[in-house]
Amino acid sequence: MYPVAWAVVEKETTETWEWFIGLLIKDLDINDQGEGWVFISDQQKGLISAMQDYLPKAQHRMCARHIYANWKKKFREHALQKKFWAIAKAANREDFMYRKAKLAQDTLEGARDIMRTEPKHWARAFFPVGSLCDSVDNNLCESFNNAIVEARFYPIISMLIRHKMTLRVQENRSKSAKWKSSDICPNIFKKLKVAIKMTQFCDVLWNGKEGFEVKHVSGRGRSYTVNLDKWTCSCGYFQLAGLPCCHAISAIYKSGRNIADFIHKCYSVEQFKKIYEHCLEPAEGHERWPVSDKPRPQAPGYVSMPGRPRKNDRKREEGEAPKERKCQSMALKLLAACVATRATTRQAATRILKKGRRRMPS
Ligand SMILES: [Zn+2]
Repeated sequence: MYPVAWAVVEKETTETWEWFIGLLIKDLDINDQGEGWVFISDQQKGLISAMQDYLPKAQHRMCARHIYANWKKKFREHALQKKFWAIAKAANREDFMYRKAKLAQDTLEGARDIMRTEPKHWARAFFPVGSLCDSVDNNLCESFNNAIVEARFYPIISMLIRHKMTLRVQENRSKSAKWKSSDICPNIFKKLKVAIKMTQFCDVLWNGKEGFEVKHVSGRGRSYTVNLDKWTCSCGYFQLAGLPCCHAISAIYKSGRNIADFIHKCYSVEQFKKIYEHCLEPAEGHERWPVSDKPRPQAPGYVSMPGRPRKNDRKREEGEAPKERKCQSMALKLLAACVATRATTRQAATRILKKGRRRMPS
């Protein structure tokens, strides 16, 4: 994850998203209406229309985690969660249909509802080839949001985002300095290790040139075709991620070649080091900032958000008792009044309470 840009806005609207996307297009030098770029978002309404207007050719994915959270409201069974993710992560249409059929065996309505959420935006099977990005969820954003939780409590100037970013770049630079430039990044290597482990269940048939037939000897016994010249596998993963799948690795082994020659260079340590070559410059304390002759920013006006207003916004600590409800507190006072005055009826206790309240100085 590399946070490229962040913005603090009054309100999330189409206008603010358009403003942000406009700056992003300029800064990242995005041409040809976003052709070749992949964006993943959390289904924000303003963003969807801004993307359609400004970057119609970019691929706009929706976070599968958000799709799942909405879908789960109707289909709560925990066992269905695994099936949902199997659908999201199926790398080709046949596997997608197979996984959907498996889900339909449990819940026909659930499988129908999934198709209503436009899987082309969140299921791996529909992602265009060559993006070198197999992400179906927005974990990157979640991590970013998590990292700035503390910063959200600060006014803009003292927000901690710049501090955290500076620290992050420095830490990654120092970390990568210990890695060999000729290697691939450790996290990618971890992913590859899983695929390498899977090759024990693959049986390879080689045509002597670039073509391979790889059959799973376990599970459904499906077989796929691999072409090492074109870096493709009919399972769909190799060409999508730029990383060999277990079938491609089996073919690489069979033909006695080197896995490293079939990993896209974007996963190399050399590339990682290039990304972290530039760092944020230290900034002077705001006492030494030049005074601007521009008008001072005005505090935004109060904006009432849609939905029922929350009565108590303070987040309670873990283990802290919830706020006493008014009716509960009234009932307790009545009970106390009954005990103190030996009143036998509710009406008598209420009368005593009211009298007591009148005597209290306001
Ligand atoms: Zn494959």
